[in-house]
Amino acid sequence: MAKAKTVPQIMDERMAFSFEVFPPKTDKGMETLCGAGGVLDKLYTLNPDYISCTYGAGGSNVGKNLEVLKNIKASGKSVPITHFTCVGNSKEQIRQQLDDYLAAGIDHILALRGDLPLGHTGTGGDLHYATELVKFIRQELGDKFTIAVAGSPEGHISCRSLDADIGFLKQKQDEGADFIMTQLCWDMDQFRYWVDAIRAAGITLPIDVGIMPVLQASSTINMALSRNGCVMPRALSELISKYWIFPDPFSDQTALKFRTETDESIAQKKADFRKAGIEYTIKLIDEYRVAGIHGIHLYALNKFDDVAEIVKLSGLVDLI
Ligand code: FAD
Repeated sequence: MAKAKTVPQIMDERMAFSFEVFPPKTDKGMETLCGAGGVLDKLYTLNPDYISCTYGAGGSNVGKNLEVLKNIKASGKSVPITHFTCVGNSKEQIRQQLDDYLAAGIDHILALRGDLPLGHTGTGGDLHYATELVKFIRQELGDKFTIAVAGSPEGHISCRSLDADIGFLKQKQDEGADFIMTQLCWDMDQFRYWVDAIRAAGITLPIDVGIMPVLQASSTINMALSRNGCVMPRALSELISKYWIFPDPFSDQTALKFRTETDESIAQKKADFRKAGIEYTIKLIDEYRVAGIHGIHLYALNKFDDVAEIVKLSGLVDLI
């Protein structure tokens, strides 16, 4: 039987399209995602080239991560990619987990340092940066894995400079990475600048762009600012202001003593924001598709309806 194409091989032929899911914490969540007729089964109907599954820094959900990936593999409907981090992992533990992935037929990995747990100043493991992890995987296992690495168009939040960050991305390429998966970026001018800058620095890897659908004001603000320090362009900020839920979109309205919003006004604002956010996301995808990239990677957030609407309306599946 012919060997399935790797993701970079697919990207060599055409723009790839993929989803990201996360391992649910509960059995009920697992059933909703992986059970018969569940979210994964529905996502397969959109024919994604791959589905990646996140990895809890510190290995908190390793079992569930592997279970989700095994489900994707067993379906034969899409390539499973695991995210993997250095946080809290010794070299022996990393080797063991890599072997487990390979034994389960999972041979694509996103090699990350991982977000440091609150109050920590290091990974607490044997490896300290993604560069070291890529090197380790290649040393231990040769070409058994196709390796993706993270790229940050606005610069990683703790990098000394964008130039230094790009230098480390080049090192990831030199250690044997196969493609880049980007951090979310709504600032298209910055994205185009970064693409030119990494190409000028000798980075030739295909670029797969991570896109978080704009569906809820609170999660949009959270994703941009809780860890990543992302720019929110004026148009996106205007959307958030227009449908702002007072006093703030993070408050539990039912617990507020002096409410200014009715249940109806909250529901209406959420629905209007979602509609406008989907339009915003589709325009963003349009801009990315002509920005010299090789794939669109949508954070599915373990849901189907929202991403299906975006995928269909944007022409990622049905041509427009
Ligand atoms: P690195 O590339 O190691 O960079 C970290 C910082 O160190 C940067 O500031 C960089 O400039 C600097 N640096 C890099 N190499 C060196 C070096 N050799 N010497 C000195 N400085 C260096 N986190 C999770 O915990 N689980 C996930 O599943 C997950 N999925 C992700 C998926 C994507 C597509 C992206 C973009 C991120 C994801 N993250 C995830 C978050 C990621 O772990 C964090 O952004 C983390 O803080 C950095 O990871 P990295 O691989 O980019 O780190």
